[in-house]
Amino acid sequence: MKPVCCRPRRTERAWAFALLLALLALSCLVLTSCKKQADESPDTAVVDRTEGGYAPGQIRPEPAQSVPGKAVQRAIGHKCQENLRQVRMLIMSAKMDSEDGTHPASLTALPEAARISSCPLGHEAYTYDPATGEVHCPHPGHEKY
Ligand SMILES: [Zn+2]
Repeated sequence: MKPVCCRPRRTERAWAFALLLALLALSCLVLTSCKKQADESPDTAVVDRTEGGYAPGQIRPEPAQSVPGKAVQRAIGHKCQENLRQVRMLIMSAKMDSEDGTHPASLTALPEAARISSCPLGHEAYTYDPATGEVHCPHPGHEKY
């Protein structure tokens, strides 16, 4: 026979467990309905950063203040450097293919560069000098890329 002092404690534990299960079920319901709402919301459409524009909650072009924000902006900066490297290769290729050996008149003359001819962070169009064939990103902090 168990001592009398333990009976209420076991009942309390049973109630606490039942309450925990109820809370768990409730949070599952809330999460499921939130996810359903998020799936139906048009704001959550996938945004292609190479095309321009950003959705609410995404990284803005202004300098980030938080450590994760700075890390994400640095990663996007690497993407900008990669875009510029590819655009420069396309310009060199177009120059070698041209009969008179001149650089293309504009970046729009390179259809392959259409998706990568702007900064993935600030969405500014890259500046291009047809005389020298140099291409740069005008986004603050990307000038030396
Ligand atoms: Zn850039």
